[in-house]
Parts: sequence; C-alpha cells; structure tokens
Amino acid sequence: MTIMEPSQTIKLFSGESIPIEQHKVRVVQKLFLVPIEERLKAMEEAGFNSFLLSTRHVFLDMLTDSGCNAMSDKQVAATLMSDDAYGGSQSFERMQEAVADVFGKKYLLPVHQGRAAEHIISQAYVKPGDIVPMNYHFTTTKAHIELPGGQVLELYTPEAVKVKSSCPFKGNMDLKRLREAIEQNGVEHTPFVRMEASTNLIGGQPFSMENLRGVRAICKEYGIPLVLDASLIGENAYMIKQREEEYRNVPIKYILLEMCDQADIVYFSSRKVSSARGGGIATNNPDHFDRMKNLVILFEGFLTYGGMSVREVEAIAVGLRETQDETYISQSPEFIKYLVETLDAAGVPMITPPGGLGAHVYATDFIPHVPQTEYPAGALVAAFYIVSGVRGMERGTISSVRNPDGTDLLADLELMRLAVPRRVFTLSQIKYVADRLIWLHKNRELIGGLRFREEPKLLRFFLGKLEPTSDWPQKLVAQFRKDFGDSL
Ligand SMILES: *Cc1c(COP(=O)(O)O)cnc(C)c1O
Repeated sequence: MTIMEPSQTIKLFSGESIPIEQHKVRVVQKLFLVPIEERLKAMEEAGFNSFLLSTRHVFLDMLTDSGCNAMSDKQVAATLMSDDAYGGSQSFERMQEAVADVFGKKYLLPVHQGRAAEHIISQAYVKPGDIVPMNYHFTTTKAHIELPGGQVLELYTPEAVKVKSSCPFKGNMDLKRLREAIEQNGVEHTPFVRMEASTNLIGGQPFSMENLRGVRAICKEYGIPLVLDASLIGENAYMIKQREEEYRNVPIKYILLEMCDQADIVYFSSRKVSSARGGGIATNNPDHFDRMKNLVILFEGFLTYGGMSVREVEAIAVGLRETQDETYISQSPEFIKYLVETLDAAGVPMITPPGGLGAHVYATDFIPHVPQTEYPAGALVAAFYIVSGVRGMERGTISSVRNPDGTDLLADLELMRLAVPRRVFTLSQIKYVADRLIWLHKNRELIGGLRFREEPKLLRFFLGKLEPTSDWPQKLVAQFRKDFGDSL
C-alpha cells in the first residue's frame, strides 16, 4: 500500500491538477502595482538594473529566495522566547537539537549566512594548488575556494547544461570523472569533494540519492571528506521523493537524514533552508569541528551565536524542523513546476525539467535578435519588469566580467531567473506572472539591447547602470497600452 502524505498538489473535478496552498495567510504586506509609465521611469532611474529598483515600485519580487521566505506562526512565536546570552544560550541549544534531529549531525558551528560557512570551510581546508571537485559551483563558493589559492573543478554531466531536457537529475556528478580527477590531482591536493543540493546556477536542479551514494563511496575509498551544501536541501529531498522510484514512499524526514548521512560536513544558508537569516556547519566528527571552531570565533562570533541574532537562531530551529513537513517543502517546487509547465506549453523557452528555487527563462531563444554583447538576459529582465512590475534577476553576461582586452567574457547561458520564495506568493500571482510573460513573448520583437552607462570594475551586476540601445522601452509601453487599455 502506498503511504499517502499530505501534498501541495490536488486534483480538481475538471481533471486538472493545481498546487494548492496548505497554509493560510495571517500577516500581510502591501504590494505596489504602479502604472506601466511609472515602472518605465523607475527602470530608467535604476539604470536598467533590477538590483537597483526600490520595492516601492515592485509588484512581485522574484529577485531571489534568499532571506525573503515567509516565516510560520511558530517561527515568529519562537523569536519571542529567545535567550540573549553570549555563551551557553538556550536558543543555540535548541538550534543544535534541531540540526541533530533533521540533519543527524551532533556538532554545530553557527555562522551568519551561507557564504560565511564557505569562508570558514575553505580557510580551514583549502591551500594553494588544491582542486575541489563539485557537481557545479555557486558564485560565493567559487570565490571562497579561490581566495586561499584553490580551484573549482566542475564534474557535471553533459545533460546539466542542456536547456531543454527530461533528465530528472541534472545535478548529478559524473562519477567516472571524479575518480579520474582524484587520480590526476592526488588525494593530497583534493581537500574535499563538494555536492550542492538543488544545484542553484543550473536552474535549481537536484541530484539523485543513488548518485550521492556513488560520490560517497569514491570519497570513502580515497579517504577524502564529502561536504554537502544543504542550502536548498529540502527541495532536493522532495524531488528525490518525486523522481527516484526507490524513495516514492519514504517520508521526507528519512530522505533528509540519508542525504546528510552520506556527508562528513553539512553546511547551510538559513536564508534559504529554514526561512530565517543565518547559517551553520554541522558534522559528527570532532576533528572537523576542532579544525574550524577557532575560525568561527575569529570571523563570526562566539560558538553559541556565530554572528546571528538569538531571535533568528530560534526561528532557524523551528524552520529546520518544518523542512521535514512535505506540505511545506513541496510548496515552492510545485509552484515552480506549475509556472514552468504553463510557460513551456505556451512556447516560452524555459529551462526544463522544473527545479527548485525559481523558474529560469532562456533569453537567447526568447530574443534571438539581441546579440549577446547587448546583454539579452539583462534586456529581458528590464522588459519584463516594465510590462509586469515583476522583478527577476539577470544571470548572464552582465553577471560576468570583461576579458583583459576589454571585451565581455560571454556567459555560457543567458537566463532570466524568476525566484519563487517559499510560502510568499499565491497561485493567482503566479498566473499573472505567466500571463504577462506569454504576452511579452508574443511581442518579443519589440525588445532591444542594453549597453553600459556606468560600469564599476568589480561586481558590475550589483551596481552598474545601463541604457537601452534604442527607444524600444517606449515602443513596448505603447504596445502594452494598445492591448491592455488602461489596465495596470
Ligand atoms: C544562497 C546560497 C549560498 C550562500 O548563502 P548566503 O546565505 O546567501 O550567503 C550557498 N550555496 C547555495 C547553494 C546557495 O543557494
């Protein structure tokens, strides 16, 4: 008999299946859907860079899922019972207990967010000339491994970077290449192997448990620690349950424990995994704990708060336990699936299959007439904001850098990412996103390119300002008014 776990998806009488919210909204925040003319003005003032928009002008904020998930009533209640103490805070003990129950690791080092965990791990383990094999890099991970002189080695399968795919586990590591890499670089230059759950930069794509077990076996054989980035572990666990036959009837709680059991060190950003703000590094090995603890005191804070407010520590403890609840953890992936499938069916070029974290639109096929040197992903983000008030994030050449000769280092993929933070949006809002994006796709020939107006040397995607290469934004506004009249 199959075990029926409560799910986020229900079947309607019409035969259609829809994701349905298994929570009620009790605290709300006002949103602003301002007229398109005001949105155009706001975009011009922001230098066609969505990072620089004020939320006063944003209707649905799909920039990121980091630190903007909705907390539950139990999380908010827990923040009121926090124990302010420099050492020995009971709030920290509650977080420790939650990490032991949910991830199965008894030693916990607290840090202020995910990248801080990466900083501590890299400083403790990576030395010049080291290679760190991983399924795929994350921006902050790569920077922190390169800081002490290490290098990232990505061992993804060819399926991982295919835009349209039916591969259920694009986040898998190529096991053959892992073995070759260790043989080639030597165990002494391989401080650890890293696996990232719901691989962020390739579209929130999961790995399978079978693949993780394979990575584990190779690590064990060579005596190399396996580090798991668990920032998006809930979604990966949910997709294992959905897509890996062996786990169809296994409760999420046990899938999470089995995933963490493969790893020697588990680290996480609580801005994602437990809908609060903070992070941690967990292990069952006291040697790993000892090797990192002084760095935590030096860079983060004492071992019972690690730079976090105790209120957030309490919220993390509750949020981690909620990760075991399938109705919670399925919410974001089911909404993403609905959005991706709706858009894909309407001919909008999407990264498939749907993953965790957000929906990813393939800008190169959306506006093939905009050359990569005119930043198609950035142009699409700007155009979509203007026609909808929805703020996405550019993941393409603007997020890249320049070559020494001054030309752009072109990105592998030009993507617009529409993040779906957990428990924040309703289905009617998701339908609105799909509707306006389908309209924009029908009118895609109106979208033009962008060029830099002010370009900082470092991290230009955060602070750089751009301008359109023609008056295409005005033409887009005129077409919108023609089709929608005086509607917002
Ligand atoms: C967001 C993220 C991080 C970094 O976490 P922050 O809390 O934003 O510093 C690391 N790894 C993955 C997979 C992430 O998604």
